[in-house]
Amino acid sequence: MAHRAVLRLKRGRDERARTHPWIFKGDVGDVTDVAPGSTVTVVDSGGRFVGRGFYNPRPALCCRLLTWTDEPLDAAFFRRRIAGAAALRGRAASSGACRLVWSEADGLPGLVVDRYGPVLVVQCLTLGMARARTTVLDALAATVGALPVFALDEDAPARMEGFEPARGWAGAPGPPAVEVDEDGVRLGVTFGAGHKTGLYLDQGENRVRAGRRADGRDVLDAFAYTAGFACHALAGGARRAVCIESSPEALAGARENLARNGVAERAELVAANVFDELRRLERGGARFGLIVLDPPPFARSRAAVEAALRGYKEINLRAMRLLERGGSLLTFSCSHHIAEADFEAVCAAAAADAGARLRVVERLTQAPDHPVVLTIPETRYLIGLLLEAT
Ligand code: SAH
Repeated sequence: MAHRAVLRLKRGRDERARTHPWIFKGDVGDVTDVAPGSTVTVVDSGGRFVGRGFYNPRPALCCRLLTWTDEPLDAAFFRRRIAGAAALRGRAASSGACRLVWSEADGLPGLVVDRYGPVLVVQCLTLGMARARTTVLDALAATVGALPVFALDEDAPARMEGFEPARGWAGAPGPPAVEVDEDGVRLGVTFGAGHKTGLYLDQGENRVRAGRRADGRDVLDAFAYTAGFACHALAGGARRAVCIESSPEALAGARENLARNGVAERAELVAANVFDELRRLERGGARFGLIVLDPPPFARSRAAVEAALRGYKEINLRAMRLLERGGSLLTFSCSHHIAEADFEAVCAAAAADAGARLRVVERLTQAPDHPVVLTIPETRYLIGLLLEAT
C-alpha cells in the first residue's frame, strides 16, 4: 500500500479548517511527500484527523477539503456527493437549466456542473478535480443518466493549478447548441461560447422577478449579456427595452434571444460601456420604469474593494436619476469581497446624491441551486436590492 500522505496544520490554524475547506500554504506546518493533485489526509497540530482533500503545492490555496469524515475519496464518495447535490435541486435537476454541482457549496470544491436541457457542462477548477474527472463523469452518469458532457475548464484556474484546461465533448458529442426554458422564456446556449458555462444561472430567479414588474414599463437592462433580463421583461409586457452590453459576442446572443422570444422589435441593443451610456442617457433626459444593473464583479480581490465601491456608487447614482417615480431598480453585486452592508451603504449614498427616495422592496441573492454554506461566507456572493422609487 502507498504511504499515507499527511498534511499537518500549524497550531492555531486548525480551528477554521474544521468547517472551512480552504487550506493556504501559510496554514501548513508540514506535509509528507505527495504527488500534486492527489489526496492528503489533513491533521491538526496535535495529529488528530481534520479531513481529507486534494493537495497541490503550486497555488497559494494548496489544499481544499472534500470531507471532514474519515472516508476514502473514491468512486463511491463521488457518487454519494453528486447524488446529494442532485437531490438538493429536486425536480429542477432533471429539466431546463440548473446548476447541479457548485463546488465548495456541495462538498466538491473545484467542480462545477451545469445542466442545460439534455447536456451537462462540467468545469474542473483544481488539478485534483481534473485528475478525478473520469470518476466524476461516471458518478454523474449514475445519478442523472448518460447525457452528453461538454468539458469547459476555465483558463485562469487551470494555469494557476498547472493543468491543461479541457474544452470540448468528453465522449460522444451532443448538440452544438440548445434552447432552455426559464419560466416560459427561451434562452439559447452554445456550448463552448459565451461567459460562465453559457448562462448566468445564478440570476434565473431574479430575471423572473424582473419580468413580473415589467408590465407597461420602459426597461433598461444594463450589463445585459444575452439579454436575459430584457427577454423576461418584454415577455412580461414591457413597452420597450434598451440593452447595454460591451461584448460583441454577448450582443449576438442577445439578438438571437430577443428574436426567439418574438420581442426583438420592442428592443434596442446598444454596444457601449455602461458608464458612458448611462451618462449619455441622462443628458438626453431619458426615463425608465424598470432598470437592471447587473455588472461583472468590480472587485476581484480585497485590494480592489475601494475602487469597486466607487464604481457601484457611480452606476447606481446614474440609474437612480433615470428612474421614473414608482419605477423599480434591481441592482446587484456579484463579488464576494463586497459585503452586503457596504453595498447597501453605497446604494444609500447614491440615493442621497440623486435626491431619490427609494423603498427596499426585497433583498435579493443568488438562485437556490447556488446554495450557501454558513461557515463558508464566500458561497454567498451575489447580493442585490429591489428598490422602488416613491
Ligand atoms: N444580466 C446578465 C448577466 C450580466 S454579466 C444575465 O442575466 O444574463 C455582466 C455583463 O456585463 C457581461 O456580459 C459583460 O460583457 C458586460 N460588461 C462588463 N463590463 C461592461 C461595461 N463597462 N459596459 C458594458 N457591458 C459590460
